[in-house]
Amino acid sequence: MQREEKEILRFSRNILVREIGPAGQRKLRSSSVLVVGAGGLGSPALYYLASAGVGRLGIVDYDRVDLTNLNRQILFTERDTGRDKVSVAAERVRAIDSSIEVDAWKEKVTAENVFSLIEGFDIVVDGTDSFETKFLLNDACVIAGIPLSHAGILRFGGQAMSIVPGEGPCLRCLLPQIPSRKDAPTCSEAGIVGSVAGIFGSIQATEVIKFLTGAGTTLTGRVLSIDTLHWTIQTLQVERNVQCPVCGEDPVIRKPLSAENYGEICAER
Ligand SMILES: [Zn+2]
Repeated sequence: MQREEKEILRFSRNILVREIGPAGQRKLRSSSVLVVGAGGLGSPALYYLASAGVGRLGIVDYDRVDLTNLNRQILFTERDTGRDKVSVAAERVRAIDSSIEVDAWKEKVTAENVFSLIEGFDIVVDGTDSFETKFLLNDACVIAGIPLSHAGILRFGGQAMSIVPGEGPCLRCLLPQIPSRKDAPTCSEAGIVGSVAGIFGSIQATEVIKFLTGAGTTLTGRVLSIDTLHWTIQTLQVERNVQCPVCGEDPVIRKPLSAENYGEICAER
């Protein structure tokens, strides 16, 4: 079978979707997505982006697989414990589709390396588990003009928003202050139901597919909140804050803040 025929067959179920079609599928193949954090959000996001036919995937994570990851980080199995997450994640992505170009970096995201990591990617997926890293990615993406899919999850719920610089609000418009640890514990402190991480990682993959193909309406300027414990689902409008320190009319943050300003930088969820 010719390569092109094989691609058409492989992605036939995508191509059949009117809003994607052959042009959208070609767009996905020529696109690049950086996933920061190969954890509870990054696992499903990477699986679905690889399966969707995205041409280039970048993966950033500094951590190794441990037993506590396995309730939600579906890229990994018992056999992977102790291995670098980025190595296992890259293997899984290549196993899904050997033609994907994969770049894997075993690094913490810092103010020093963030621009070199995100440079050249069409969109970034935030799969991290600390507000410090989420704000760092937000600031860097806004300054560099690269769209960012944000999600945050805890226990039975979470929220998602897409940040398209110049078109909509950013994370600092939604949350003017970095929430304190007391108000916003991490998953390692307060827990997370694995399937809920799966829902939000899948929402992020869907946002990326829509953004890249131009299908439908994205979560730019809207925050989607889901509480699966009582099945409350809300989409709220978020206005751009003209006084936002990074995307406002007179921004004071013109380069990513150093690690000391954000506290400890970590990339686990
Ligand atoms: Zn903003």
